[in-house]
Amino acid sequence: MQEPNQYLATTLRRLRKERGWSLDACAQATGVSKAMLGQIERGESSPTVATLWKIAGGFNTSLSTFLEPVPESGPGPLFRQPESLRHRPAGDGMLVAPLFPFEARFGFEMLELTLLPGYQRLSEPHEPGVIEHVIVQQGEPELLLDGHWQRLGPGAAVRFHGDRPHGYRNTGTSEAVFYNLIHYPA
Ligand code: MN
Repeated sequence: MQEPNQYLATTLRRLRKERGWSLDACAQATGVSKAMLGQIERGESSPTVATLWKIAGGFNTSLSTFLEPVPESGPGPLFRQPESLRHRPAGDGMLVAPLFPFEARFGFEMLELTLLPGYQRLSEPHEPGVIEHVIVQQGEPELLLDGHWQRLGPGAAVRFHGDRPHGYRNTGTSEAVFYNLIHYPA
């Protein structure tokens, strides 16, 4: 398992400075406390996925921006192995592998998300125009869409507006794994 802390710490500080934000302004934009943001920037705190998503939302950017650098890619194919990419921020019940991190030229990020049994996450709406696609790889994750929990089996695919409240949970006894392709408006 990789430790995203140092990369996260420097990326958060860099992006915050680029915007000319104080820690206060950053707390205002993200809904994450100034104290927590300071701890993350100093590499003292490992935030949960939920907190990371709040930070990404406040910056109007993707989650993967805060996980690891965009992979070097030349003209050839880009191969990615999820087992070497899975992050588990703060011992959270959700593992995140940024298979294809966000790049502005493509406008999307593709994550492999693993929900441990019993995990549930309610997501704040993303910025307007964000579209999510979910394709189940294994297990039976449930998605909260338009106020209803919907169970999906392996191979099932769904597209929905990520700028509305939604959620993910795993009420099963084994891991649920799905791919999440998140498209961000230009
Ligand atoms: Mn979402």
